[in-house]
Amino acid sequence: MKKTKRRVERKPAQQINRHSDPTDSVFAGTAADLSEIGRSFYARGWVLGTSGNFSAVLSREPLRLAVTSTGLDKGNLTPEHFLEVDDAVNVVRGNGRPSAEALLHVAIVRCVHAGAVLHTHSVWSTVLSGTHASHGGVALEGFEMLKGLEGVRTHKHREWLPILENSQDMVELADRVSKTLREIPGIHGFLLKEHGLYTWGRNLQEAKRHVEILEFLMEVLVRSGAAHPA
Ligand SMILES: [Zn+2]
Repeated sequence: MKKTKRRVERKPAQQINRHSDPTDSVFAGTAADLSEIGRSFYARGWVLGTSGNFSAVLSREPLRLAVTSTGLDKGNLTPEHFLEVDDAVNVVRGNGRPSAEALLHVAIVRCVHAGAVLHTHSVWSTVLSGTHASHGGVALEGFEMLKGLEGVRTHKHREWLPILENSQDMVELADRVSKTLREIPGIHGFLLKEHGLYTWGRNLQEAKRHVEILEFLMEVLVRSGAAHPA
């Protein structure tokens, strides 16, 4: 009798344990961090009008990403706006549809083993990716701020930001992104023509830093008149 009674008393505790699956807290923490970063990017004018999308790796095997749901005002992002997707962008947690560009995030994570991928649509990246498209990319060289990119130790570093033709066919575009990342190892980001910037990092903080560095440098180039290549 006593034993049965104790079992009954423990039931609520067992239910609580079942709900505190460690993947729940990893997802919740990652979604909170991503939404905070998204709101700060909106405040900087880098992801206006529902543009941009953000992701972070939750697990590698199997591959699981926390990624923005589509069509959201990034100024009001909350953790509930994030989905967990697998490597084919099927939703395994959350309500909503992933951004069409989530396929690009998966391609980047696979090719460069990124822990987080951030995508912005700033004025600066839109201008530069149009004016430099015929050159195939933009060179960033001689700036102290380059040292904010992972592995860069000197302002003399030459960072090449490839420019890829934009597309609405994400399968085809993901293939071109993968090919570019294999052919030009060591880059920290790329531009889609008249669309925006993709960058990444080993973790979310590094990816955020890369957005700040690259957006800063693109703004410098445009403001200093370098948006018109010779
Ligand atoms: Zn985009």
